[in-house]
Amino acid sequence: MTHAERRAALEAIASEVRACTRCRLASDRTNAVPGEGSPDTEVVFVGEGPGFNEDRQGRPFVGRAGGVLMELLGSVEWRREDVFITNVVKCRPPGNRDPEPDEIAACAPYLRRQLETIDPALVVTLGRFSLGTFMPGTRISQVHGTVRRADPETGAADATVLALYHPAAADRSPDVKRQSFEDIGRAPSALLDARARRVAAARSGDGQTAEPAATASPTTADPIPVMAAPQAASESGPALATEDDPATADLTIF
Ligand code: URA
Ligand code: SF4
Repeated sequence: MTHAERRAALEAIASEVRACTRCRLASDRTNAVPGEGSPDTEVVFVGEGPGFNEDRQGRPFVGRAGGVLMELLGSVEWRREDVFITNVVKCRPPGNRDPEPDEIAACAPYLRRQLETIDPALVVTLGRFSLGTFMPGTRISQVHGTVRRADPETGAADATVLALYHPAAADRSPDVKRQSFEDIGRAPSALLDARARRVAAARSGDGQTAEPAATASPTTADPIPVMAAPQAASESGPALATEDDPATADLTIF
């Protein structure tokens, strides 16, 4: 898919979300919150659902939890506009209650389609509801900071999933916050590994010999200079993005 096609596909999903009445959360929302970020990124963060501020602004993670998420991103030198940020449910549960299973199920096709469009190398789950989608049957207290392959059923065809506590939990507990900095510290190497795996798979798909994980280690000579930062995918696979490349510089609010 080209940049323009990805962008148009994400915009189409966002328009459907804004008009959606598939579950009861439609009735109390001010604004639906489809998600935002670079359409061409390798990394998608998936939270739980919009809170008060997100519902007011129609943008994900703009309140207190968003502040913590930005601190976490900053600690690995990633920027909001380099990644894509969305939620399991796109409308605010009243009073910030937990989303119900039928609401998560009703909303799941939107997340799946966003992931199919972006085809990320890395999905970072934020909190237990997002974890439930990507690592069903696991407990956040046991799997935070660990990775596994995404089930392609989620829409992420070939992604590594990294589990994090919810930033709001980190905001409430200094221990969880400390742990969350440690956990997100694994994101750059998880991205490198996932990128190398995908490059190797693409090469073997072309009938070429895959080079053994030359790009997987930040300590080896790497043909990709921006080593552990999410890159914009070019139309022909992972490629360099320059500072003024519109595909990376664009934080699109969908
Ligand atoms: N918490 C979430 O899970 N998502 C948001 O967008 C904001 C707060
Ligand atoms: Fe539709 Fe999802 Fe909002 Fe429910 S939460 S109304 S399924 S967009």
